[in-house]
Amino acid sequence: MSSSSSSSSPLPLQSLKIGIVGFGTFGQFLAKTMIKQGHTTRATSRTDYSQLCHQLDVPFFRDVIPFLEADNDVILICTSILSLSEVLNSMPLHRLKRQTLFVDVLSVKEHPRNVLLQVLPENMDVLCTHPMFGPESGKNGWRDLPLVYEKVRVRNETRMVEMSCEEHDKVAARSQFLSHSIGRILAEMGIESTSMNTKSFETLVKLKESATNDSFDLFSGLFIHNRFAQQELMNLEQSFEKVKQRLLKKMSEQQSLSSV
Ligand code: NAP
Repeated sequence: MSSSSSSSSPLPLQSLKIGIVGFGTFGQFLAKTMIKQGHTTRATSRTDYSQLCHQLDVPFFRDVIPFLEADNDVILICTSILSLSEVLNSMPLHRLKRQTLFVDVLSVKEHPRNVLLQVLPENMDVLCTHPMFGPESGKNGWRDLPLVYEKVRVRNETRMVEMSCEEHDKVAARSQFLSHSIGRILAEMGIESTSMNTKSFETLVKLKESATNDSFDLFSGLFIHNRFAQQELMNLEQSFEKVKQRLLKKMSEQQSLSSV
């Protein structure tokens, strides 16, 4: 799996035909940007996005068979983490007419790698990616934003720095899952911007907003399909308890001093 900034990457040399599976928030965001980059996109999804796709000039396929037969160079998997298995297992993948690169963008990595390797015919290439940006942070393009990937089964070699899917999930549990969890906790607390925000508090409000802009399916996928996430949740709980105990200890020390 590689960690790279697109600022050092060349612009695409070739216009690709990209089929998108899962045309929710993230799939739409990717399609809009890829169209601007000169690629051709087409989409299929559980929900009927015909009208929206018509506006975007993206062919929408209600039926997955013509989608699979639509001469895609790349099939981009943008479903929720929780539905990946169901979606891929329901696709008649033997209808693929040519060698295609399958790319997933799920925010956990071992799970889609395992599912893709299990369901795809051997001649299909697999690239597992995690774009470290979303519709908000990438609204002006993703040129300087990081993307993590592993060439799980890619025949056409390009310059990449490897990081395993396992390493990705370990790091992501301690960074991305942690920030989503804290954002959700802050939302539970109902924190809101005040008239006397410090910079740090503004960061917390932004964290809350960014965590709750993503679906709960996304958040729970980060937990359920990343085997390192549960440990981080326990670490969070234990650390919270330690900080609380230190405060309570200090308070009782102060109280005993003042009562002397
Ligand atoms: P999401 O809630 O994680 O996924 C929504 C997508 O999943 C929609 O296309 C939805 O289809 C599909 N879906 C959900 N349940 C389904 C089911 N039972 N059967 C078939 N399809 C189902 O939200 P998202 O933000 O669009 O994320 C999509 C993927 O991108 C996720 O895997 C996420 O981890 C990854 N990702 C997201 C971000 C981000 O900033 N949002 C960043 C990096 C990676 P319909 O719309 O047709 O209902």
